[in-house]
Amino acid sequence: KYQHSTLSSSHVRVVLRVRPFLPSEIHRDGTKPVPCVSLIDQVGEEVTVHLKDQCTSRNECYKLDSFFGEEVTISQIFNKEVSSVIPGIFHGINATVFAYGATGSGKTYTMQGTEKEPGIIPLAMSAVLAMSRNTRCSVDISFYEVYMDRCYDLLESKAREIKALDDENGRVQLKGLSWVTVSSMDEFAEVFSTGIQRRKVAHTSLNDCSSRSHAVVSIEVRNDGINGKLNLIDLAESSSGNEDNRRTCNEGIRLQESAKINQSLFALSNVIRALNHNEQRIPYRESKLTRILQDSLGRDSRALMIACLSPGPYQEAVHTVSLAARSRQI
Ligand code: ADP
Ligand code: MG
Repeated sequence: KYQHSTLSSSHVRVVLRVRPFLPSEIHRDGTKPVPCVSLIDQVGEEVTVHLKDQCTSRNECYKLDSFFGEEVTISQIFNKEVSSVIPGIFHGINATVFAYGATGSGKTYTMQGTEKEPGIIPLAMSAVLAMSRNTRCSVDISFYEVYMDRCYDLLESKAREIKALDDENGRVQLKGLSWVTVSSMDEFAEVFSTGIQRRKVAHTSLNDCSSRSHAVVSIEVRNDGINGKLNLIDLAESSSGNEDNRRTCNEGIRLQESAKINQSLFALSNVIRALNHNEQRIPYRESKLTRILQDSLGRDSRALMIACLSPGPYQEAVHTVSLAARSRQI
């Protein structure tokens, strides 16, 4: 049987990525603020990060699997954390990569990337395509979002709702989801950018912003009857409760959205935690997101959570890193 190199089964790696200060966050005189997060210790496969409130000196420490500072590029993160799961996909070992964090922390930047610096999604796609050429497998992609516990296909002309139905094994199937075969990065880029555009349009008409939904790109490889899937997910923003709600004037639908988002992120954290603690029962049924991911987030698959962080706000950092750390193996 195919053996995986770095990620052991049932262990979901949880790593932290801190983005640089943006030009708008740098002081008028050109000096940079002091970041609220720093790496203080690294022992074997474990890092300790220190969060400090520059105003009040409140501080906390958390343990994680890895730390990537502002100078680390996406391709370095890809090479260290993601590239090793690609061969497994061709052997039917599913994998999932999540970007988790507050609004503006760099989730989309990390997953999607920019023209200059491709993100995890195009890098993974490129690696899968390269490998598929040697093995002559077909590669299909789907692109959908989960908003308020409903799934919308982003590869259909009108972001169509997809019903998530239980199959005979009690697992969720997305019936009628579009799968598009891609054989080159040009083809992928076209499909991907169309989906991104649809996502924007769908949310503008709802007077909404896209950070209120989870965006899932699935890459499926079919190799002589063996199917393997890689899910790449830009998670909805996490908010830390009342404070955020007041800041964004959350009311009505906004409060419901926030409740759904927090519920699904908490459910995801619980699933990852249960896997990392080798628990008998994995609580997939607590949310739509975890039910959909059941076949790609389990003892026989590989997963990575990239917690993204802005270097400034302390409370936000505590919120993000504490959830990441509690998901991790102790
Ligand atoms: P999120 O998707 O988490 O809301 P974004 O990915 O949109 O956050 O990033 C917020 C802002 O920070 C964007 O302007 C983005 O270009 C910038 N940014 C994020 N990560 C980086 C990085 N590693 N280097 C430079 N700029 C970044
Ligand atoms: Mg985003």
